[in-house]
Amino acid sequence: MSLIKLDKKSYEYNLNQIATKAGGFERLICVFKDNAYGHGTKLLAPITKALGVNFIAVRNEQEAFELENIFENILILSHRPNGKENPKFIYALNEPLSIDQFKKHTRIHLKIDTNMHRNGVCLENLQQVLKNASKLRLEGVFTHFSGADEMDASFFIQKQNFQKAKDLIKKSTDLKLIFHSYNSSALFRATKLPDDELCRVGLVQFGYGQENLKKVLSLYAHKISSRILKSSQSIGYGGAYTAKEDLKVATYDLGYADGLFRFNGKGELKLANGKPILGKMSMDSFSCEDLGDEICVFNDVQLWAKFFNTIEYEILVKLHPNIPRIVV
Ligand SMILES: *Cc1c(COP(=O)(O)O)cnc(C)c1O
Repeated sequence: MSLIKLDKKSYEYNLNQIATKAGGFERLICVFKDNAYGHGTKLLAPITKALGVNFIAVRNEQEAFELENIFENILILSHRPNGKENPKFIYALNEPLSIDQFKKHTRIHLKIDTNMHRNGVCLENLQQVLKNASKLRLEGVFTHFSGADEMDASFFIQKQNFQKAKDLIKKSTDLKLIFHSYNSSALFRATKLPDDELCRVGLVQFGYGQENLKKVLSLYAHKISSRILKSSQSIGYGGAYTAKEDLKVATYDLGYADGLFRFNGKGELKLANGKPILGKMSMDSFSCEDLGDEICVFNDVQLWAKFFNTIEYEILVKLHPNIPRIVV
């Protein structure tokens, strides 16, 4: 049985740090999309709630229903309107042309395209869209930064554009609206969250993207079998690893079907204790030196993200929901 352990103290520590930076737990919208970045929504949500967070963002209605009895405010980021929207949830309005497809009086947060050009209404059309959206219940307005983690001008240009949108909206409506734009990296790069905004934090909750936060997730595999791999014998598909001397090896119960990137046997992909995986990874298993009944595959995915030339998000989010998870 493979296993994911979620460290409660580390998660609480991170959320405390984030809340301090943002000015309180009530100013956080914790992003729980895609099984809380692969960590496990069901186990983390009660901890998040107990700390005082009452606003969460998810990807779709299916994820929202999982949390409906825990959080009061659930923002769905990527819904396609179908006229059956649930009055409990808040829906992002990403496509101004889709207003008529929403059920009347649906709670929405309007997305502004401040220069990322992925979703939302651009500033020129804002006034018109506000009029068209009057059949919906506008509760908030938000935008997303394309490069808050990069030190270029785009962040400031988008901030300026969002400020223009806020000014225009505040002038044209008396509604009391919620504004939000900052993600993890924007929050930590800024000296302070704007006074009239909440922030949407994803990755930093889990200890990534910032120094001095703590990693929450560690992944364990368990031994299926072991043997002596004799000098000059090879192991696994294609015999990609050949022993130079007799070596006690074991096969462990995690593979690429569990959402791990498939290691092709080339180069050195290391486990948490620094020992390499030997040969190619299989669908449901991998082999390495016999390291006992339970081994930690990783407790910090930075190394695997570097090895596979990707970002930490992708290593985490692929972890299969069927891997058993526990809070420790
Ligand atoms: C995923 C997501 C976030 C969170 O981003 P992090 O970089 O993980 O903090 C915030 N807002 C939107 C719209 C997102 O899709």
